[in-house]
Amino acid sequence: MLLSMEAEKPGEGMVDYHLHTVRCGHAVGGLEDYVSRAVELGLVEIGFSDHFPLLHLDDPSLSMALEELPDYVREISEVAACTEGLTVRLGIEVDYIDGYVDRLAELLQPHPFDYVLGSVHFLDGWGFDDPRYLDGYRGRDILDLWERYFQVLGDAAECGLFDVLAHPDLIKKFGFRPPGDLRRMYESCLDRVAGSGLVVEVSTAGLRKPVGEIYPGEEFLHLCREREIPVTLGSDAHAPGEVGWRFHEAAALLLRTGYREIVLFRKRERWSLPLPARRNGVWG
Ligand SMILES: [Zn+2]
Ligand SMILES: [Zn+2]
Repeated sequence: MLLSMEAEKPGEGMVDYHLHTVRCGHAVGGLEDYVSRAVELGLVEIGFSDHFPLLHLDDPSLSMALEELPDYVREISEVAACTEGLTVRLGIEVDYIDGYVDRLAELLQPHPFDYVLGSVHFLDGWGFDDPRYLDGYRGRDILDLWERYFQVLGDAAECGLFDVLAHPDLIKKFGFRPPGDLRRMYESCLDRVAGSGLVVEVSTAGLRKPVGEIYPGEEFLHLCREREIPVTLGSDAHAPGEVGWRFHEAAALLLRTGYREIVLFRKRERWSLPLPARRNGVWG
């Protein structure tokens, strides 16, 4: 009787590839707290992907220092080796900054990452998603800004460093959105993403931000699907309670847009995991 009353675990059969650690200077909680939250939710796999040291600016509240990178790699690998009940992957989130690609490639090369997330948080030096620099939006033409963002995202896709593009329409974070049809802008970017063979992250982090919407939006994700661009899942957790955050909504969005599987990584190789169907047949 009691058994049949038990709810399914909300993250059953899913993965969260975007978890941060205290090393980045703006996350909280021990690694073990992230792991136990993932187990509690029923996730089958997680990946830590903390912010790679920023090379173009010195701000300890945004990323670990370069000297810390070996410790990060060792620490996550140790957690991965001693965790039972779910798989823990070693990932990293790297900012795409024009002019730093060769240096980044050199710095990434010695480490046994399972996957590398690529992010665009900076446009021509401006941290457009950082609430401290919101002033930067003042007086800007939002359409030009979006054009620039998706051009840089395409550059990031083609730079050869990344496996996954994280939160691909992050530019909408504060809700500034140009009017009109954005398809053409998305399409020219996604043709480049598809051509580079990258995976796109579906991130529930946008649900915690002013925009209140999953990254990417449904129209963008439809265009990914048309191009057969594979997807993975992330919460961009900066606290244990954010692990697997509202993943049922991400799964519903994926199923609505025709996705039936998500991608997993091991040592930069990838394969697919079928999206779990809920026992009652409905997500969301
Ligand atoms: Zn962060
Ligand atoms: Zn992140």
